[in-house]
Amino acid sequence: MNGKVYLVGAGPGDYKLITLKALECIKKADVIVYDRLANINYLKEAKEDCEFINVGKASSNHLLPQDDINRLIADKALEGKIVTRLKGGDPYVFGRGGEEAEILRDENIDFEVVPGITSPIGGLCYAGIPITHRDHASSFHIITGHPRHDGKETQEINWNALANVKGTLVFLMGISNLQHISENLIKEGKDKDTPVAFVSWATRYNQRVVTATLENAYEIAVKEDVKPPTLIVVGSVVNLREKLNFFEEKELFGQNILVTRSRKQSSSLVEKIMDLGGNPIEIPTIQIDKIENNTELENEINNLNTYSYIIFSSKNAVDVFFDKLYDMGYDSRVLYNIKICAIGIETARCIKSRGINPDIIPEKFVAESLYEVLKDILNKEDKILIPRAKNAREFIIEKLSEKCEVKEVITYESIIDLSHKEEALRVIEDGVVDYITFASSSSVKNFVALIGKENLYKLNQTKIISIGQITSQTIEDFGLEIYRQSEEATINSMIEAISNDKKILNLGEITC
Ligand code: SAH
Repeated sequence: MNGKVYLVGAGPGDYKLITLKALECIKKADVIVYDRLANINYLKEAKEDCEFINVGKASSNHLLPQDDINRLIADKALEGKIVTRLKGGDPYVFGRGGEEAEILRDENIDFEVVPGITSPIGGLCYAGIPITHRDHASSFHIITGHPRHDGKETQEINWNALANVKGTLVFLMGISNLQHISENLIKEGKDKDTPVAFVSWATRYNQRVVTATLENAYEIAVKEDVKPPTLIVVGSVVNLREKLNFFEEKELFGQNILVTRSRKQSSSLVEKIMDLGGNPIEIPTIQIDKIENNTELENEINNLNTYSYIIFSSKNAVDVFFDKLYDMGYDSRVLYNIKICAIGIETARCIKSRGINPDIIPEKFVAESLYEVLKDILNKEDKILIPRAKNAREFIIEKLSEKCEVKEVITYESIIDLSHKEEALRVIEDGVVDYITFASSSSVKNFVALIGKENLYKLNQTKIISIGQITSQTIEDFGLEIYRQSEEATINSMIEAISNDKKILNLGEITC
């Protein structure tokens, strides 16, 4: 049986600038063939056993020649696989998608093309440059700046027409040929004062925009070390950037933020960082290992009618408990008579997603604060169930046991995920990290275990953000300095601590 190929546009780079259809193709692929302009974070959405093939595509330096790419895609489909060919921007805009589709048609291989937001559209938008504007340009022209090596280039590009058309010109793959481009345009009559913008890594946290005029474009690009991938924009719309630039003003734009939580938990923090224009660098430190065949938990679930309270202190604890409850054929109704306590907003949110509003959420998201609430309302007849992680803090068990019967059931264990040690060390040593976030004491301990105590000094230059007091204590116990502690123990508050810091730093720059 033949497979199928999806030629998919991944958009210009910002993670959320992808279509639902493209995401669907990533999720169902057996093989993903991608190049360097497609945001590789999308690969996380693929099936666990999906095969990934990087075929490069740095301009003029293809890792794999186009003929080989065509062959590879066709062969994988002939093996009966679903192949997603993931390309930056749109597959038919200088992506050689047309050639790939032709081969597939020639070989009778089923295919579909999924358009993407092309970089000259999405990239200009994020640079604050409207590609058309009633006062500036009523057409736009997208041109390859990459000369063919077979001598056909001069016939291919009509410089005279381009120089005299009033619309916005956008050159792709043009950096190595910039001098030629600007000289040709000026020679054919384009005003040498026409504004030019170089938009590099558009729509990403590392987007960089340099402006010039047609006359000094080459000189400025050399001086500013403008490198591919870059869009070269020629036209007076470039002047609107000063007013319309919104992306680079985002709260976390350009910030590299190391996120140290277990992979499953980190998603909301990672997503928020990306939405605010930052670059989340995810280093998973812990892996959640659920206790299998947990008869103790099963017994207590069967005896739920003897309990008056259940305390959940983490999202994982909620997940493991409810998954078991459902597996055993129960649903949330068995909890109707039990008061549910949640430590932490995310824990509470997770309980809500299981159809239950927690009865008690202490003001501060720590065990001490819950104890303050419970100590006056508990009586001797009460019985409390605490399903939670191995090696959690003793405090709540000890203190509540003075009031009534407390049953702790270990439901999971957080273990160190050593597979990312090299990556973590490289990221720290490269000095690219602006902030490190710690959202729990255990993530601090695990991160230290991951990189090794002997490497702790490498964190001296990095700003450490802690989610709350207990986490801060653990950080200090390792001799590290806390840069900021978030006001509340929530992800949002942690993000705020970083963005406020950036605001203060920016103000500092203006007043200096
Ligand atoms: N199919 C792609 C274009 C591929 S050609 C699209 O539709 O966008 C490769 C060129 O596109 C690069 O050399 C650069 O000029 C441009 N490009 C693609 N993505 C870019 C980005 N995020 N920032 C700046 N330029 C980009």
